[in-house]
Amino acid sequence: MLDKILNELAETPTRLVAVSKTKPNSAIEELYQKGQRIFGENRVQELVEKEASLPKDIQWHLIGHLQTNKVKYIAPFVAMIHSIDSQKLLQEVNKQAAKQQRIIEVLLQFHIAQETSKFGLNLSEAKTLLDSEAYAKMDNIRIVGVMGMASFSDDLVLVRQEFKNLKSHFDRLKQDYFLGDENFKEISMGMSGDYKIAVEEGSTLVRIGSLLFGSRG
Ligand SMILES: *Cc1c(COP(=O)(O)O)cnc(C)c1O
Repeated sequence: MLDKILNELAETPTRLVAVSKTKPNSAIEELYQKGQRIFGENRVQELVEKEASLPKDIQWHLIGHLQTNKVKYIAPFVAMIHSIDSQKLLQEVNKQAAKQQRIIEVLLQFHIAQETSKFGLNLSEAKTLLDSEAYAKMDNIRIVGVMGMASFSDDLVLVRQEFKNLKSHFDRLKQDYFLGDENFKEISMGMSGDYKIAVEEGSTLVRIGSLLFGSRG
């Protein structure tokens, strides 16, 4: 399945985040042997344990909701945090990154789905964050793009529209805050069920779990 997905992505600018949450190290090693290096996890404790025992050149992406009190555990090694949904969280990531003398790449998570349960900012909240004095002083984080999760729905018109909305948020922020900043280039959208649509709508990072590893059960 890895080969099939990589083949599909080969003609696109999109990279694969292999979402390995709940999967054993052996399953990760199998993909690692085939060359996969970016893995995504959504739980801090699980991520910390896996990082400790798997190859050091894996780029670990934290894709799930992150509590401020847990940032310190992943700050030493995390390659990218997809789920920045408040100024408070970004502030904490900056603080912990500074302690590690690192710059951590992050994405602003937008709420694009119809479900109310999903985390994320809206455009005006993101702008408030980017306009803040606090953000201007954060030297140890780098905002490299946006992330969103579409509705879990069979309505592909709806899902496509939600991806279009995220792309338009990206374009707006690029125009207003990141023009000329070549680091601001990532649009993390698309999962097992909807990644093909996401790629068509401009995704640069698809986060695929069950399709790669089999259902989590
Ligand atoms: C689990 C998860 C995924 C992957 O979902 P699949 O449907 O298994 O591909 C992607 N993004 C986030 C934030 C997740 O928690």
